Amino acid sequence: MNTKYTVPRGTSDILPKDAYKWEYMESLFRKVAKSFGYQEICTPIFEQTEVFERSAGDTTDIVQKEMYRFQDKKGRTFALRPEGTAPVIRSYIENNLGSDGQITKLFYIGNMFRYDRPQAGRSRQFSQYGCECIGTVHPYYDAENIAVFWTYLKTLGLKNFVVEINSIGCPNCSETYNTVLKEYFQKSLEILCPDCQSRYEKNPKRLLDCKVPQCKEIAMKSPSMLDFLDERCQIHFGEVQRYLKILKVNYIVNSRIVRGLDYYTQTAFEFINNNLGSQNALGGGGRYDGLVQQMGGKDTPAVGFAGGFSRLLLSLEQENLYQGEFARPKYYIISFNEETTSKAIEILDFLRNKGIYAEFEIEKTSMKSQMKSADRLKAEYTIILGEDELSQNMLSLKNMTTGEQKQIALDKIEELCL
Ligand code: AMP
Repeated sequence: MNTKYTVPRGTSDILPKDAYKWEYMESLFRKVAKSFGYQEICTPIFEQTEVFERSAGDTTDIVQKEMYRFQDKKGRTFALRPEGTAPVIRSYIENNLGSDGQITKLFYIGNMFRYDRPQAGRSRQFSQYGCECIGTVHPYYDAENIAVFWTYLKTLGLKNFVVEINSIGCPNCSETYNTVLKEYFQKSLEILCPDCQSRYEKNPKRLLDCKVPQCKEIAMKSPSMLDFLDERCQIHFGEVQRYLKILKVNYIVNSRIVRGLDYYTQTAFEFINNNLGSQNALGGGGRYDGLVQQMGGKDTPAVGFAGGFSRLLLSLEQENLYQGEFARPKYYIISFNEETTSKAIEILDFLRNKGIYAEFEIEKTSMKSQMKSADRLKAEYTIILGEDELSQNMLSLKNMTTGEQKQIALDKIEELCL
């Protein structure tokens, strides 16, 4: 049978020619997050389904339509994680991470899974980076959390993005606002998409989040949440902006941001690259003061964000930004026969044990083919081990950029590590 296997729809391979770009994006994120005092946490890629149903809210698209659910052999239901916050909070509670009464700052990098319609910038398996700051209501931490994301993108060199912020208030403000919104949308109810008709009943704020053009147009003219904030939320939003200014984060206020998940309160924000087409959000986040308690922990406020690496990579490519470096050997060893080959392997092993990338291809025996390989791999130097060299206990070292050549005594090969 002639079967041709392909990757599942909505997923892709990261090939060696691109892997170093991912390594670069991930390592830089780790570095920036750590400099803001965040520590790494890794949670499993699947959780009990309730972890997401309880947290994200069962009216959200993620839970209703996009979650990969499965049963194990004992009939228990699990879900592949569609997002990173709920698992981090589950772990925070389970491991008592806040028991010292201090603020807990956690970051993660990992694959998420959503059964979504695949298109440019949207896949079914995608990698996210995120930061959660748990245990404080202070508005400085909303600004600091936004600043991690901002600093990361700036350090990558990205220019084409904007930070949009909003406050969606607390349950107290939402009560009035939801009524006003329902009044507003009621006259257009019949022309709203079916999803919006159900949002109208269950969670009117999510009407502002619809991507269907007709719904979007109606939502554009709806009353602004910012006009319905109570005094506490107004002050909080003002303070967040004050700290953002001190942190030199440029932002605009966009009162239409609601975020896709139910657990957000007060601050909501998005990082947008308008050159990315319809999937233009690099990431987003906000404050979620009710979530820890909702998931069974103590009443604990928190703020966090998540961004996606694939849209980030598209953005970096659009701006022709440096994305790390394809690893190239420092040394390519050239040898011609069995005698010199044993020595070649010894030197190769010596260099690799010193952590130096060295290459040797045992099946190639001609100078020409080995030089060609050294060029193809962009080796910095070639080490030539001919019979002449060996008889003098020497090796020849050639700088592949300048063409300069010199000899080194075999009992001084430590010099290669300098
Ligand atoms: P969200 O959790 O939906 O706010 O997503 C945060 C970020 O993750 C988005 O802004 C995207 O960069 C990325 N993201 C979310 N869903 C997908 C997806 N289906 N495919 C690729 N990236 C995604």
